[in-house]
Amino acid sequence: MEKREFAVGVDLGGTWIRVVLSDRKGNFIERANAKVNTSNADAISKQIVKLARFLCSKRAVNVKALAGVGIASAGPLIQEEGVLINPTNLPFERVALTKPISKELTVPAFLINDCTAAALGQRTFGAAKGFDNYVYVTISTGIGGGAVVNGTLLFGKDGNAHEIGHLTIDCDGRLTCGCGKRGHWEAYCSGRNIPNFVRMRFEEVEEEDVRGSLMFMRTNGDLSKLTAPDLFDAAKKGDKLSLQLVEEIGVLNAIGFANVINTYDPSLITVGGSVTLKNKEAVLSPIMAHVKDYAVNRLPEIRVTPLGEDAGLYGAVAAAIKYLPRRTSQFP
Ligand SMILES: [Zn+2]
Repeated sequence: MEKREFAVGVDLGGTWIRVVLSDRKGNFIERANAKVNTSNADAISKQIVKLARFLCSKRAVNVKALAGVGIASAGPLIQEEGVLINPTNLPFERVALTKPISKELTVPAFLINDCTAAALGQRTFGAAKGFDNYVYVTISTGIGGGAVVNGTLLFGKDGNAHEIGHLTIDCDGRLTCGCGKRGHWEAYCSGRNIPNFVRMRFEEVEEEDVRGSLMFMRTNGDLSKLTAPDLFDAAKKGDKLSLQLVEEIGVLNAIGFANVINTYDPSLITVGGSVTLKNKEAVLSPIMAHVKDYAVNRLPEIRVTPLGEDAGLYGAVAAAIKYLPRRTSQFP
């Protein structure tokens, strides 16, 4: 049988849906972005079908000749059933994806957690080529990860393994996470929650230092408006308090990384996510400096992903082309 040359990869977020038509080597030959249609739960699969058809028609690719459609999405999900269950960033109890898409396009469709997908993408197209033990960590709006151990991509019972953003890094539980529990890594160091950490520390340092900081000036003193970029931009300009807080966040990240290293014993940690990609030096330097204080295992190589913001899309394509169709988590 003729080798199916193309696949569709989908990165389904809370606001945006990104779709690519890719060849088997991971060259994205067409791409489209759209706001997620949240008019009802069935609208999302219909939107994916429409976008897949649109991209194929632009290149005169026969939809029925696709190797498959891979969908990377934030969970929670049930991978085998291809559904999202009470997804954190979509307002539905259940979103069926693979069955309606597969039925409509008559090609296989696969659902995979977006961070797990990004990890898979690293092995197929990114920093982890040839690695049998590595972890992908994303520091973005939230914090997540995906792990390959002894050449096996770990999924867990439903496909929700490595919710590493919810590892506890502060036993005093000073900040509450979006999940409702206290002291989680993501509650301190993710793009969404860095402002909470900064405001908490502002309560503890001298008021004079807060008032003198660039962060205070940037927000005109309204600290409820503070964002993660405000902190990193002020630090880049040499603002003393901002530099100190970036370092403190770095130490907390180092604890998170050490937990990952002690759990999975990887040879490589490849790091992505918007917070990392926009502030490579400020995020990675303190991790490099402090991770040894908490890790017991031999340290892995730690480097930024070469796949940028597209790591999940590469993983979705990899899932469709060469991986999940085998119905096994072992790499070929
Ligand atoms: Zn949490």
